[in-house]
Amino acid sequence: MRRMGYGMRSSLLWMKLSPLLIGVVFLLTGCAPPGQPPQAAVAPTSVPATATAGLPTATLILPTATAVPPTATAPPATATPIPPTPLPRYDLVLVGVTIIDGTGAAPLPNMALAINGDRIAAIAPAGALVYSADTPVRDLAGASLLPGFINAHAHTHQLSDAELRRWVQAGVTTVRDLSAPLDIVARRDALAADFSVPRLLVSGPMVTVPGGHPIPIYGLNERVLTVGGVADARLQIAALADAGVDVIKIAVSGRSDTSYPELSDAEIAAISETARSRGIAVTAHVDRAVALERAVANGIGDAAHAPRDRIPDALIAAMVQRGVGMVPTVDVYEALAEQRGNAAEWRLVILPVMYDNLRRFAAAGGTLALGDDFGGADGTQLGMPMAEIRHWLAAGIAPLEVIRAATQGSAKVAGIAATWERLRSGRSPICWWWTAIH
Ligand SMILES: [Zn+2]
Repeated sequence: MRRMGYGMRSSLLWMKLSPLLIGVVFLLTGCAPPGQPPQAAVAPTSVPATATAGLPTATLILPTATAVPPTATAPPATATPIPPTPLPRYDLVLVGVTIIDGTGAAPLPNMALAINGDRIAAIAPAGALVYSADTPVRDLAGASLLPGFINAHAHTHQLSDAELRRWVQAGVTTVRDLSAPLDIVARRDALAADFSVPRLLVSGPMVTVPGGHPIPIYGLNERVLTVGGVADARLQIAALADAGVDVIKIAVSGRSDTSYPELSDAEIAAISETARSRGIAVTAHVDRAVALERAVANGIGDAAHAPRDRIPDALIAAMVQRGVGMVPTVDVYEALAEQRGNAAEWRLVILPVMYDNLRRFAAAGGTLALGDDFGGADGTQLGMPMAEIRHWLAAGIAPLEVIRAATQGSAKVAGIAATWERLRSGRSPICWWWTAIH
């Protein structure tokens, strides 16, 4: 059927994400258009009075149209018969599914989710959701349903629409593109109504100084914008905001094995201030702790990478206090080490430091976001960033925390936390919101 796509053999690593996530991955890739022919309809289940007992109410989405069970007792024979309130008909109801809501809360087994059009209409324990006999029902017993993942650091300008689709097919429904030619704004807008591709959040070109990262590696091209001085920085950031970018990407350092010219503290502060005044955040390419410290002190919203050296505890505390998130992108560093032929040494020397940073940042309550810098190096993989997830699990991050980072955490870092919360109230296009796995 059209509204549900199946594909993507799961990685066995999904099994580590949750004991519930076993076997084949399948995904909700399309919205459920109204008026689709119903599937085999089943009679609605009755409503046990205790059905909602023991469920954390915060995880439940209130139905927009409250389901009303039929009147249980027959009217007196002498009275005018009152017709029972009709049960609501939904375009689709999914039953028997385990819901993981992305907040870190425990999974909720045996839930039901009703869809109208492309929106979630109601979520309730399976026995508590009532619906008409002609509502199409799909039994998802054994499956888990969770918010669409958000890749908070990737590069998409080189991809066709068909390639973009592979993200959605894998469960990644939003992608934050950090450095692309400015015409990516137009592409984002052109694709905005196409739910078969991820929602794009874009920075346009990466902001740096003449000769700064990434110019020595990739040259000066339209993915890079140089600024010279505070006044120029303000002007150029305002122009990017006018052009419609969602976020500003800056380079505060380059590669850890060499030093390039870098934005000054005053320039970073001017960029952050200008961006903030336009309601957008700044994400910073940082590869070492001293650069991260300068970036945090001067107002960035998140680090687009984790440093490859130790982050001091005091800096972690400052990040937590200021709400500065981090997208560790361990995978891209491993891919780069592979490219440079020093992967064995990297795994021995650098990887344990990155794992330790990740663990301490998470333990301190820092906002982690999932991203792998897809396209930042050969070897990063389109789709679910399983290599990045595998690193987090190896570092000791709990599976539910990985899911939380990939959904709630990435939403916060990507500047869509307010929308993400609203999604929970049932107004979200389902295809940006839910991914089903079993
Ligand atoms: Zn990148």
